[in-house]
Amino acid sequence: QAKRNGRAHYQYYAPEMNVEMLARMHLEQRLRKAVKQGEFHLEYQPIVDMRSGVITSVEALIRWQDPDYGLISPESFIPIAEETGLIEPLGEWILHQALADLADIHAQGIALCMAINVSARQCMNSKGICFSEVLKQALATHGIEAKDVHIEITESLLIEDKPLRLECLDAIKQLGVDIYLDDFGTGYSALSYLTQCPISVIKIDKSFIDNIADNPSDVKLIRAILMMAKNLELPLVAEGVETLEQWNFLQALNCDYAQGYLISRPVAKQQLLAFLQQSKPLQYLSNQSELKAV
Ligand code: C2E
Ligand code: MG
Ligand code: MG
Ligand code: MG
Repeated sequence: QAKRNGRAHYQYYAPEMNVEMLARMHLEQRLRKAVKQGEFHLEYQPIVDMRSGVITSVEALIRWQDPDYGLISPESFIPIAEETGLIEPLGEWILHQALADLADIHAQGIALCMAINVSARQCMNSKGICFSEVLKQALATHGIEAKDVHIEITESLLIEDKPLRLECLDAIKQLGVDIYLDDFGTGYSALSYLTQCPISVIKIDKSFIDNIADNPSDVKLIRAILMMAKNLELPLVAEGVETLEQWNFLQALNCDYAQGYLISRPVAKQQLLAFLQQSKPLQYLSNQSELKAV
């Protein structure tokens, strides 16, 4: 086998060609196949207005059900999809699926916004087309208004290729699609990005929320972030809210929106519809032992 076409072929195995890399290559191959064969689906996780208790939006979260391996976490395959460029076809699929589902939800008479995660590589695709163009077309295709869609980006997107990305983000904002800064506090971006980039909302990372009960310094950080957001007139979403204690704490600090298992796990569209219909005008009562719709 080393001899093919009459020429010698040598295979080199660098020491770093380890098990991890092989596993990764394997995952990459599977991912390619999965994109072709459509092994993905979306789940939606509600985001609730902490003052009114109304569910204002849902975040689309991708799920990969591999026939052999079962459910594979986006945390393990999204980075690979980004590195390999597979995020481009995958990202377009996500966008169209989410907007088609949103159109369905609207058709049931339910007002709702859709949040879509967009990774750095999608912002400007390999053909040099800005995501705003892709978005504009998708909105038209599904008859969705720009105000009913947000995109979520992370700080890392703001760091690399800054001028081009900024232009692209401006174009997205121009469309009327709001940009949310996801996982805030985990990156390493200068705070000046908050005013230089067209960010409309900050999502404070779950890791801060996790420690509300037992880490006083995280509590101080959350307070500081909330104050900063208020001063910049940027609404704040707390992600990963799991307990009523966290909810009460955030509500007392005037946090604007919450998302987390306490309200709902990410669910398939049918379940989401049932959840939205059953919980009509939601009113979450913080003085109860659990969150309740009244
Ligand atoms: P993210 O955008 O920050 O999404 C929030 C993650 O936290 C989701 O994980 C969600 O299921 C989880 N989560 C929400 N509430 C709670 C809670 O109360 N407790 C706990 N323990 N977890 C909670 P998921 O779905 O596994 O997604 C992980 C990450 O993968 C996302 O983080 C996002 O960065 C990426 N991702 C997911 N879907 C997409 C997508 O469609 N496109 C892109 N580009 N990235 C995606
Ligand atoms: Mg997100
Ligand atoms: Mg997040
Ligand atoms: Mg995250």
